[in-house]
Amino acid sequence: MASKAATELKRESRAVTRLIEAGSSTECSVCEKVLKFRARQRDYQIICNVYDDGDWVRVEHFHDECYLDAEQPFGPPVD
Ligand SMILES: [Zn+2]
Repeated sequence: MASKAATELKRESRAVTRLIEAGSSTECSVCEKVLKFRARQRDYQIICNVYDDGDWVRVEHFHDECYLDAEQPFGPPVD
């Protein structure tokens, strides 16, 4: 039986939801459009840390709708 600590040490790809920040010039991995900050609009992005076999590979960014359209490739985002 695996201990809780061992489970937490296992590094897997994960997704978080974040507000798009002013000055952002990151592109969405799905539609390749910039995740554009709009004043007075609270737009969200999904940021995924991608791990391959426990090793960190890259960060990917998505529009929240694009991430849903892609069927949440890195799992459901957490806040
Ligand atoms: Zn997009």
